[in-house]
Amino acid sequence: MTQISSDLHDLTVAQLASLLSTRKVSAVETAQHFLTRASAHAQLGAFLDLQPDTTLAQARAADVRLADGSAGPLTGVPLAHKDIFVTRDFATTAGSRMLRGYKSPFDATVVAKLGAGVPGTPPGAGMVTLGKLNCDEFAMGSANENSAYGPVKNPWDTSCIPGGSSGGSAAAVAARLTPAATGTDTGGSIRQPASFCGVTGIKPTYGRASRYGMVAFASSLDQAGPLARSAEDCALLLGAMCGPDPDRDSTSLDLPTEDFCRNLNADLAGLRIGIPAEFFGDGLAPDVRAAVDAALKQLAQLGARLVPISLPRTELSIPVYYIIAPAEASSNLSRFDGVKFGYRAPQYTDLNDMYLQTRAQGFGDEVKRRIMIGTYVLSHGYYDAYYLQAQKIRRMIADDFQQAFKQCDVIAGPVAPTVAWKLGGHSDPLADYLADIFTLPASLAGLPGMSLPVGFGAGHLPVGMQLIGNYLGEARLLNVAHRFQQATDWHTAKPQGI
Ligand code: GLN
Repeated sequence: MTQISSDLHDLTVAQLASLLSTRKVSAVETAQHFLTRASAHAQLGAFLDLQPDTTLAQARAADVRLADGSAGPLTGVPLAHKDIFVTRDFATTAGSRMLRGYKSPFDATVVAKLGAGVPGTPPGAGMVTLGKLNCDEFAMGSANENSAYGPVKNPWDTSCIPGGSSGGSAAAVAARLTPAATGTDTGGSIRQPASFCGVTGIKPTYGRASRYGMVAFASSLDQAGPLARSAEDCALLLGAMCGPDPDRDSTSLDLPTEDFCRNLNADLAGLRIGIPAEFFGDGLAPDVRAAVDAALKQLAQLGARLVPISLPRTELSIPVYYIIAPAEASSNLSRFDGVKFGYRAPQYTDLNDMYLQTRAQGFGDEVKRRIMIGTYVLSHGYYDAYYLQAQKIRRMIADDFQQAFKQCDVIAGPVAPTVAWKLGGHSDPLADYLADIFTLPASLAGLPGMSLPVGFGAGHLPVGMQLIGNYLGEARLLNVAHRFQQATDWHTAKPQGI
């Protein structure tokens, strides 16, 4: 027992679940172990809120279910949530000063499904919440440097960023402070930090997971998904997170909950993997290219066929995304007005001044920049020139994928042009935007995408490979990633000193 307990943090979700269900460890013991680690590694800046009493109460409830036979496959396994999901028992800040100390009266659907369950429905997965994880303010960013609560450090090199906006989630999983975490991906925020921190993450098809209780950034793009240390773990979590939520999110897909583990071991023989030429151009750093090329070779050895394809509008995804996402954000963030909830400026002269002071003080620079861009592109006279054009090109980008999927079953390429950069390394926000080039196309098309570790680049920093599937093709992506992980051990590498 002692040996098992000291190594609990090195176990995957699947391994922990098996120890818990056979009662070799208790949920309380497991939760305590991870809480101790989270405190011991506070310098990473990954956690924004820990409530040990709440966590241990959830763990005790899980132990009851494990004892009385009502447990599900994930009951008692700890996880932590990106601080963009509202939670009743933990503060929810969305990384913003605007929501400092905010307590939601309800849990997001994803949180409820993974935990005790959505009220009025059968019990949830019974996972135990360790706490809330740092993220870029309102999920806007690529480096986790836009959080009002300080940056997160990359466990592989603490002078580097972990990626964003789910930087706390990726860093906490990489540092083994939690076996798994939730994240959200609007333009790459699960895939890119997963890549930079050497963990596995998946963004499902738009609409797979309910957005109810996810603090909204860009509603036509936002999607929840898991980050963990293996494709198998992601499959387990994704199955517990997804499913229709018709009363609370009308954009959630009306499809039965799927078992994403069912095809994990399927043979890759004959699988056509599309390699988009535009993902391997001059902008791709040689170290990232080398690791991704080696991974593609490995997939070919596993029986897959590599097919050259083209996604001709890849470059346009940057201007298109940085029009549509800010436009939606400027509308979504209008609710933060100092009246309904959150921050209110302490001093003001009249109502208008109260709005101005509250928003000037409550929002950080990047959020203000996006609100200004969004309001501009939606304004009379510019709507047609910018917003409408962007919507048209968005459709063309989605069509390009459908053309590509006539030639291949899955698309593979890099997640980001480089490995993680230094904290403070990008002084110009445009540099962050440009680094999103490979993740934005799938987001704009609403397609599932994932990142899995495939090696190391400059400075021994992790490199991720991206897999993009057609709509509802998550099981296939997880199958490819799982087979790769069965044949390699990049996903088991561990940062030094952790
Ligand atoms: N980096 C992108 C942005 O800043 C994506 C963020 C996200 O996916 N939440 O908007």
